[in-house]
Amino acid sequence: MSEVVQDTQQEFWRPPSPVVANDILAREAAPAMAETCPRCSSEFLLGSRFCHTCGGRRREAISPTARADAAVIARVWEQGVARMSSVVAGLTSRKTWSGIWDKIQFPAWLRYLHFHEIQSWIGLSTAALIAFMIGLGCVAGALLVGLLTAKTLVDWQAIQFYRAEWLLAATAAFVAGILLKKASGGDGE
Ligand SMILES: [Zn+2]
Repeated sequence: MSEVVQDTQQEFWRPPSPVVANDILAREAAPAMAETCPRCSSEFLLGSRFCHTCGGRRREAISPTARADAAVIARVWEQGVARMSSVVAGLTSRKTWSGIWDKIQFPAWLRYLHFHEIQSWIGLSTAALIAFMIGLGCVAGALLVGLLTAKTLVDWQAIQFYRAEWLLAATAAFVAGILLKKASGGDGE
């Protein structure tokens, strides 16, 4: 104890105890410590073992290669998290959309536009009804051909051919529907 007192009086900057001096020497021989706190990123005080701001433990300085690896891993992680968050956002938005979709009340008459409603109303089998729809589409095409304007005789002839082809297709579809209806009717449907 007496030598401690002497040391402090002679050289005030020295640690008062030789044990503390050895500890400081050992710390200086130890690998370089981190300069900033990894938790709060505040700068460590000289020779401190803990962060003076958040109390986090001071770790050894990371080697440049390890820091590069960590940066790469962090970038990959951030990209993965961003992708996941975008996917989750898409799923949640789709969920909300479906929720809105469920909340929409369709008018009651809209159900008459359903395929099976039309089927039961007309009394056709599925194949015959499909053929009937195709035939209606072809009739509509023949009517739409009338919207084309002909400037020359060749154009007018071409339009007549288009119309004749649409009407032929409609006829074929209706005949197919009749045949399908007869076939399914023979089965007892
Ligand atoms: Zn800290």
